[in-house]
Amino acid sequence: MLFMPIRFVAVALLLLFSLFCSGCTSKPAEKRLRVVASIEPLAYFAQRIGGGYVTVSVMVPSGGNPHTYEPTPKQMSRLGAAKLFVKAGSGVEFELDLMQKIVSMYPGLRICDASSGIQMQPAGHENGVQGEVHDAEEHHHGRFDPHYWLSPQNALVIAENVKRSLAEADPGHSAYYQANADRLKEELRELSSELHVKLAQVVNRRFLVFHPAWGYYASDFALQQIAAEEEGKTLTPRQLERVIQKARANRIRVVFVSPQFSTVQAETIAREIGGVTRPVDPLAFDYQENLRRATDAFKGGMQ
Ligand SMILES: [Zn+2]
Repeated sequence: MLFMPIRFVAVALLLLFSLFCSGCTSKPAEKRLRVVASIEPLAYFAQRIGGGYVTVSVMVPSGGNPHTYEPTPKQMSRLGAAKLFVKAGSGVEFELDLMQKIVSMYPGLRICDASSGIQMQPAGHENGVQGEVHDAEEHHHGRFDPHYWLSPQNALVIAENVKRSLAEADPGHSAYYQANADRLKEELRELSSELHVKLAQVVNRRFLVFHPAWGYYASDFALQQIAAEEEGKTLTPRQLERVIQKARANRIRVVFVSPQFSTVQAETIAREIGGVTRPVDPLAFDYQENLRRATDAFKGGMQ
C-alpha cells in the first residue's frame, strides 16, 4: 500500500509529460536512442541526461554483483540493437570479460567510458585497511578500486562523459543533452554541499564496511573507510580476527553491508564487537537519493 501513491504520482507525471511534451522533448520508444549501461548508477546518468530521447537498459540488474555477474544471451542480443554502451571502465570484473566480446560482436557500437578523466585510487589505499588485514603476499599491486562513481565529485565527470557520448551518438539533440547535463551537475553540486553539511559535526570519522566500495566517497568527505574484505573473497579466520581487532580499536559498532554480498561474515564481526549490520547500496539506480540515504546511515554508525 505504501507504494500506491508513489506509483500513482509516477503515472500522473508520465501522462503530463506525454501530453505536453510529445514532439518537443521525447520520441516514441522505437525511435529513441538505445543505450545500455553496465551498472544501475550509470543507467541513472544516461537516463537523466538522455531524457526523452533515449531508452536505457542495464546489464547488471539491481541486487546483482558486478564482480561476478555474467550477462544473459538476451542482454547480449539487446546490445546488438543499442547505439551506445556506457561502461564503468574501472576494472569491474564482468565488464573486462564483456568488453572483448562486445567489441568483436558489435564493432559499430559506441562505447562511453564513464571513468574517463577520473583519477583512480589503488585498491587498499589509505581509506581502507586491506594492507593491514591481509598478508603481504595477498596484495594486488596495481589494481584500482573500481567504485569511483560513489564520489559526487567524480559524478560531475561522469555526467560530462555521458553527455559527450550522447551528443556524439545523436548530434541533433546535443543542446538538449547539454541542458540536462548542466541541470544534473547543478543538483550534484548541491548534493555534495548538503552531504558535507550533514557530516560536518561527526567526530569519529571512521566507518567499517564489509565490501570496500566507499573509498572514493570517504575521500570526498574526509572520512576513513575501514574495509573487511577485498574482491568479494571470503575472509580467512585470521583475516576475520584482525578486522574484529581493528573494529574494536576504533570503537566501531556498525558493520555496513552491501545487498549484493553475503552478510554471514559481517554478522560474525558485528556479533564479536557487540554491534549491528546496516545496509548501504553501492549500486542503486537513484544515485542522489541513495547517497543521501547512505550518508544518513554512515552518520548514524559513526557516532
Ligand atoms: Zn564492488
